[in-house]
Amino acid sequence: MSWHVNILTLFPEMFPGSLGTSLSGKALGAETWSYDAINIRDFAGGVHKNVDGAPYGGGAGMVMRADVIESALLSIKQPGRKIYLSPRGKPLRQALVQELSQEPALTLLCGRYEGVDQRVLDAQGFEEISIGDYVLSGGEPAALILMDACIRLLPGVMGNAETAREESFAQSTGGLLEYPHYTRPATWESANGGTLNVPDILTSGDHAKIKKWREDQSRAITKAHRPDLLEG
Ligand code: SAM
Repeated sequence: MSWHVNILTLFPEMFPGSLGTSLSGKALGAETWSYDAINIRDFAGGVHKNVDGAPYGGGAGMVMRADVIESALLSIKQPGRKIYLSPRGKPLRQALVQELSQEPALTLLCGRYEGVDQRVLDAQGFEEISIGDYVLSGGEPAALILMDACIRLLPGVMGNAETAREESFAQSTGGLLEYPHYTRPATWESANGGTLNVPDILTSGDHAKIKKWREDQSRAITKAHRPDLLEG
């Protein structure tokens, strides 16, 4: 069964976007995942097809209408888990990505302007997910990021299942950041003037020592870049 995503958006042409290329594009072609980008504007009434209105209580910007969004949502046969991409949502972390990649279907609501009328979120039980502590101009790039992170975990998408197990944030590595990587040539002259060698341990062939070195590196990098991950 394919992983299916319904996307509620004012800009359906933004999909599949980058997800139509590389591994995710191949997986789309192989029907490992599928999507429907639903244009919210198609569900607006009146000649002007208004999807937004001025905020009650005053203030800048426009707010997307609850009635229009609900009509678009109700057109979906199997919405599955309903998610509103929002800066005030629960942070998107790898454990949540893993969970979402195992859902049969998701519906992603992409906001624009100042956001959406709270009533449709409450009435339809949307959960809110944020991709980070910054404000985008719309939910579409956030939806693409969430989908990208999930798609690479779908069975058969990544060549080697070990890749996912050893990655940054993986539960199997204690949620740490990944160790550094090196490839050929073993000795490299940088244009900056230096001769840079691959750490000797990696060419020693001693797999136990390499494993230990990588674990030590992971811990040191996590401590330097993201000490908060060591606390959890
Ligand atoms: N007024 C909102 C606020 O202050 O929280 C920001 C609205 S933003 C300009 C428009 C839309 O972009 C939001 O409705 C949401 O769908 C999306 N968006 C912006 N930042 C996001 C983030 N960090 N994560 C997920 N979605 C985001």
